[in-house]
Amino acid sequence: MGMATLGTIALSQIKPVSAFAMSLEGEALFALEALPYDFKALEPHIDALTMEIHHDRHHKAYVDNLNKLCAKEGIQEKSLEVLLSKIGSYSAGVKNNAGGHYNHSLFWKMMKANGGGLPTGFVNDAVNASFGTFDQFKAKFIETSKGRFGSGWTWLVAKDGKLSIGSTANQENPLMDVCELKGTPILCLDVWEHAYYLKYQNKRADYIDAWFNTINWDTVSNQLKLAK
Ligand code: MN
Repeated sequence: MGMATLGTIALSQIKPVSAFAMSLEGEALFALEALPYDFKALEPHIDALTMEIHHDRHHKAYVDNLNKLCAKEGIQEKSLEVLLSKIGSYSAGVKNNAGGHYNHSLFWKMMKANGGGLPTGFVNDAVNASFGTFDQFKAKFIETSKGRFGSGWTWLVAKDGKLSIGSTANQENPLMDVCELKGTPILCLDVWEHAYYLKYQNKRADYIDAWFNTINWDTVSNQLKLAK
């Protein structure tokens, strides 16, 4: 007999222990949502394989690790936003993975098939009021994204009725108490190499240019409403 058995059941038939650590209630605190579109929806700007690996492996790992660490550290806060607002009280692992979960969940919604173009209505008004023109906004967003050394994110945030652009390292975000950049996230861009390396290799600028063709301005508009 080639395969180890447990009674008459082959080991391969036994469900593996879940990668999720369970909270005391027996449920993982946080869950990975499905992408709101197909892996190939953002082509040719962002390729299907990058989207699949990014969502199903990178994002999933942040969720799994966050659940494990919450169980280990006795964290029962179910609101990710509340957890982020006091993240300085927790371990670096919780910070990295909670940030990774929040940032990616928002990022997927920032894109859609046949996205891009120009914002309209009050989003357009807010962009013009804060940056002069859309082109000036875009140039600043691109410059900030190119300027991030190593891994991180670019953010358009709203604070005190004004929009501004900033960058965070690793998985930090503007909802964290420990983050220098503060405000309501309006738009975000992942500039980790895993977000673009398969298709664009070291050409981050080309990825950023292409990504502008995927922006879902409806999500941007909803985020801006939240800030008001
Ligand atoms: Mn990422």
